[in-house]
Amino acid sequence: MADSCACLACGGQSGQAILKDRPSLSNPLRIVTYRVLVTDEIDAEGVAILSAEPELVVDEMPTLPKEELLERIVDYDAIVGRSATRISADLLEKARRMKVVGRAGVGVDNIALETATSLGIAVINAPAGNTIAVVELFFGAVISLLRHIPRAASSMQAGKWDRSSLLGSELKGRTLGIIGLGRIGGEVAARARAFGMNVVAYDPYIAQSRFDALRVQEAKSLETLLEQSDILTVHTPLTDETTGMIAKRELARLPQRSIVVNMARGGIVDESALLEALARKHLSGAVVDAYEKEPLAADHPLRTQPGVLLTPHIGASTTEAQRNVAVDVCIAVRDALLSGELSRSINVADVGGQWAEVEPALTLTRRAAAVGRAILATQGTRAVQRVDVRSGAALVGARSALLASAARGLLEGTVEQERLNLINARSVAAARGIDLSTTETSTQENPYGIEVRLSGGMQEIAIAGTAQPGALPRLTRIGAFHVDIQPRDTLLILTNNDVPGVIGRVGTLLGEAGVNIAEYHQARLAQGGQALAAVSVDGDVSEAIRESLLRLPDVSSAAVVCFHSG
Ligand code: NAD
Repeated sequence: MADSCACLACGGQSGQAILKDRPSLSNPLRIVTYRVLVTDEIDAEGVAILSAEPELVVDEMPTLPKEELLERIVDYDAIVGRSATRISADLLEKARRMKVVGRAGVGVDNIALETATSLGIAVINAPAGNTIAVVELFFGAVISLLRHIPRAASSMQAGKWDRSSLLGSELKGRTLGIIGLGRIGGEVAARARAFGMNVVAYDPYIAQSRFDALRVQEAKSLETLLEQSDILTVHTPLTDETTGMIAKRELARLPQRSIVVNMARGGIVDESALLEALARKHLSGAVVDAYEKEPLAADHPLRTQPGVLLTPHIGASTTEAQRNVAVDVCIAVRDALLSGELSRSINVADVGGQWAEVEPALTLTRRAAAVGRAILATQGTRAVQRVDVRSGAALVGARSALLASAARGLLEGTVEQERLNLINARSVAAARGIDLSTTETSTQENPYGIEVRLSGGMQEIAIAGTAQPGALPRLTRIGAFHVDIQPRDTLLILTNNDVPGVIGRVGTLLGEAGVNIAEYHQARLAQGGQALAAVSVDGDVSEAIRESLLRLPDVSSAAVVCFHSG
């Protein structure tokens, strides 16, 4: 049907697979299968979640050498692994079927994230499953340091009974300064309070309510936190802002004989500044699990510095954590493949809440953009230069994803991008010089309302609709015309003079051509003036039918928009 399709939204290329390719309506018995490569010894409980799906074919393999993986990867729709397998740019480019990369764990340093994003491949990690493992290591290591446990154990192994040199100190009554009150920082705080510590935290990116809920004192600045921390611990990601966040100047602000802990990421605490502060005994100790360069060099001075307890990046190394991250990532990969659920993909715009609540709005935005483009095309404007999305108050957190969805609806069928989706639509649009923006909306409007405004040359069109959670989205305005129609399958948009007989003639022509009308909404600005018909039909409408519609008396324009699924 593609060669005869009149669809302006798909440019005659309807039916491209995006992230999901559900059984088609024309052949409901066809089961689509996806091949998933599971490597790096992912926990069996996670693998079982994938294997339980009849639509997923799962191949488990040990960590493969790069050349072998490059050869095999072409057959797979998804790969799930850990840090041992490098998902390089050349691998992703070769993997023509690849839709999802799953990482059982937090770090995605081994994945060419930018390439994945530009190719529309979802990258999913499992950031939460190892929280408790890190938190328990924190207390184990800090208490070990305070009570000299490693030294006590080795002195016992050496046949000694040396109690006098093993006088330790306690957590109770000390002030713990936490930088980053996220998952790990929050759990450290809760347990530190149970040890009778005073807990102070610095995290400018979270709400006061989280400090209150955790009963943690908020430090308004890093400096105030440093000045009171007997034990300072960092639990932030490694970003431009946090790289070298704790360096010479910050360490100097800590009280004499304090302790510094870095179990987050190497580079947040400057290692040479740390060594220097330990050497001049400003600090009494340090605990480090994550290093600037890993593995830590065998002759690194930290290894022999007294008062330092080092572990080889084992924060997440518990059986429970490995199982948790495997289960988390396998559920997310399954959902991405089978239902297009991308909320756990780190390279898709955040939808600011529940995916299910926002999904109708994403569909509406995409379809509104497709309608707008089709109408502009009938007015002679094929190159859209600007897209602006307004959304109601309930959708504020999803603005960025809505913009990506509008870009997707606009570009579908016009770009040779077999994997155009929410992940890469914005960057594809930007590369074509399309300006994307969002506009604030007043709170009086429909909280689930959307307006997509497209402009190009001297033309502009705004398409509006509503997308209540759990309901099918509806278009409520096309340009100046108020309509009420569900944009499903194919939408015909006709403009005509408001005179008797047009609706009948359109209906007859479509009926004779075998096109079934699902909904017909006629709108006009004034009696006898311009009118617009939005006609939702089942299946495709060919270019020949569109031309016949245009030849009808009083019809002045006809646009056909067939909506992509997926
Ligand atoms: P998270 O995203 O839940 O929390 C991070 C917190 O840091 C957030 O609340 C954020 O607002 C805060 N933050 C960001 N920038 C900040 C800044 N400039 N100043 C102050 N606060 C800032 O992350 P998480 O799961 O708690 O993980 C924390 C760190 O632990 C990450 O770096 C993660 O990679 C690391 N980690 C290490 C291991 C290990 O094996 N050692 C295992 C798991 C996680």
